[in-house]
Amino acid sequence: MRVLVQKFGGTSVATPEKRRQVVQHVRKALEDGYAVVAVASAMGRRGEPYATDSLLELLAREAGGAPDPREQDQLVACGEIIACAVLSQALIRQGIPAVSLTGAQAGILTEGRHADARILQIRTERLHRELSGGRVPVVAGFQGVTEEGEVTTLGRGGSDTTAAALGVALGAELVEIFTDVDGIKAADPRVVPDAPTLASVAYREAAELAHLGARVVHPRAVEIAMEGHVPLRIRQTGSDHPGTLVWDRPAGGTMEIRSDRPVVGIAHVGDLAQVVVGGRQDFNQDALHSRLLQAVARKGVSIDLILVSPHQLMFSVPEPAASAVHEALAEFDVEVAVTRKLAKVSVVGAGMHGVPGIMARVARALTGAGVAILQTSDSHASISCLIDGERLGDAIRALFEEFELGRGA
Ligand code: ADP
Ligand code: MG
Repeated sequence: MRVLVQKFGGTSVATPEKRRQVVQHVRKALEDGYAVVAVASAMGRRGEPYATDSLLELLAREAGGAPDPREQDQLVACGEIIACAVLSQALIRQGIPAVSLTGAQAGILTEGRHADARILQIRTERLHRELSGGRVPVVAGFQGVTEEGEVTTLGRGGSDTTAAALGVALGAELVEIFTDVDGIKAADPRVVPDAPTLASVAYREAAELAHLGARVVHPRAVEIAMEGHVPLRIRQTGSDHPGTLVWDRPAGGTMEIRSDRPVVGIAHVGDLAQVVVGGRQDFNQDALHSRLLQAVARKGVSIDLILVSPHQLMFSVPEPAASAVHEALAEFDVEVAVTRKLAKVSVVGAGMHGVPGIMARVARALTGAGVAILQTSDSHASISCLIDGERLGDAIRALFEEFELGRGA
């Protein structure tokens, strides 16, 4: 059985017109001989009645503060279940046998951590039964169930993860992620409207772009697909554009990583704050570094761009967490300075590893645009710079020009 997983994002299932397009994609795949498993996200965006944000607002109003995590999962999981029943009905009406399934019915077992659970295992018996019976299972994305029967969710963008995990568990030939843009672009199209769509990227590049802020695909979905050797294709619901193929380029093939294209894309994250902790004492004494970091960790804040030196500790946090961090550090005899309204811009490319001068080009582009670099970090496939959030658009466009990303992949 050749299995194809097709995941449809929130906007793709939001209106009858969009759902007709979804039905066409499913029909086409069935005609091509695939056994199709569909995955759906909650319908629509903020403000629309069954969207995840609307459900979250409903509970937040009732809670008058942070909602109970279990009740939150119980409620937001309904968003995907609604979308799946509606989509399944649309398929049935068009003569395609379909059956909507909750995460639990689809056998998606997770750990118990509410709102950010990881998939542990997929028990595929039910899915196989539906596929053998010639039906299209329409699986609720973003959710699972613990061994004890508790409903969990996988974190924002988690339907991508559901699709990738199903693809691996079912030995799918391909996982298609349908969204509102025609693939992974060289930069966020909201900032660079004419950014070209990348024809293909390596798993590592897609994962890096996703981790560094490109919301178009969830980083965990890319990692699961990479480990399971299932290719992903990101494409647009409203078009036949082939989209972006995410896979491992065959070594020595026509797709090998070219060092003349060290950077394939730019990602960014906004609303960050930088925390600089200084003092006269040596932070290596009395385990001060580790006590400071533990105090921050106890607030449940995850930190980034971490720089540790004998007389200074520097890191960035999401801006809404800045005051919690300030509180956490108040009990220490250190100086704490917090700068808000910052952003992180990153250049990504597996081909940059070992190529000299990439950082110099990043610095040249940003300096040329009058954008100050506050801090940097890098990996084997990316370089990130912390900058003034007000200058983010200029920074992205300057890097886009410097690395000639307009000429496409
Ligand atoms: P879905 O609801 O279908 O999962 P998302 O909103 O999660 O859709 O992801 C699609 C959005 O990702 C696009 O509308 C676009 O604004 C944004 N995006 C950010 N960076 C990129 C990029 N490099 N390429 C394409 N889209 C991007
Ligand atoms: Mg998404």
